[in-house]
Amino acid sequence: MRIDIVTIFPEFFDVLDISLLGKARQTGIIDLGVHDLRDHAHDRHRTVDDTPYGGGAGMVMKPEPWGEALDGILEGGPGDPGDPGDPGDPLVIFPSPAGDVFTQAMARELANEQHLVFGCGRYEGIDQRVFDDTAVRARVRLVSIGDYVLNGGEVATMAMIEAIGRLIPGVVGNPESLVQESHEDGLLEYPSYTKPAEWRGRAVPPVLLSGNHGAIAAWRREQQLERTARVRPDLLA
Ligand code: SAM
Repeated sequence: MRIDIVTIFPEFFDVLDISLLGKARQTGIIDLGVHDLRDHAHDRHRTVDDTPYGGGAGMVMKPEPWGEALDGILEGGPGDPGDPGDPGDPLVIFPSPAGDVFTQAMARELANEQHLVFGCGRYEGIDQRVFDDTAVRARVRLVSIGDYVLNGGEVATMAMIEAIGRLIPGVVGNPESLVQESHEDGLLEYPSYTKPAEWRGRAVPPVLLSGNHGAIAAWRREQQLERTARVRPDLLA
């Protein structure tokens, strides 16, 4: 999968060199490009923001640097940027608290894409015309990672890349471990234990030491249902 990120803080994404995603980059499973939006601001101060039309607090990201940055990525990347309806086209994601809420189901869907582009907003966000203009050449989605407001789209992009990236075949060593996780079957995961069997007077539930696979599976299912009902009753509904 090709992933491009546009940001005013490219160094934010240095962490993508480490851990499983770093390895996926080394082996070529993920091909990452991080682009500094300020390279597309041509005044002396490399300005990317301006005051909002209509007044109001804060600054808005200017359309020109965004237009130029995205033109370069969409023209240079895989897929045909001429037809935004083609599923082979790049999918441009703008993290936004006003977008569709990111879920495990969305991560699974996005893990099948060939080319994702993330546009990280800052300040009060990006001039609306950037979304409209990009939608002519690519598929565009505004995506929120939750009902709260961050300072910028970088943390949201990192969260999405980590969730999507680990679902790409070959990124996580044992694919079985992906199936047994919270949200994969609509429930939260059961509690996990490892050695020693007793620690600080706390014993591992005896069923897990029993070797009875049927009983272990039944216990885990029961724990999933109990935990989900207690912590996230909305998921059961
Ligand atoms: N004025 C915007 C609003 O009220 O919708 C919020 C702008 S926020 C301070 C700056 C940037 O942070 C946004 O453009 C977006 O990229 C990112 N951001 C903030 N909260 C987010 C969230 N919950 N999910 C995804 N991105 C978020």
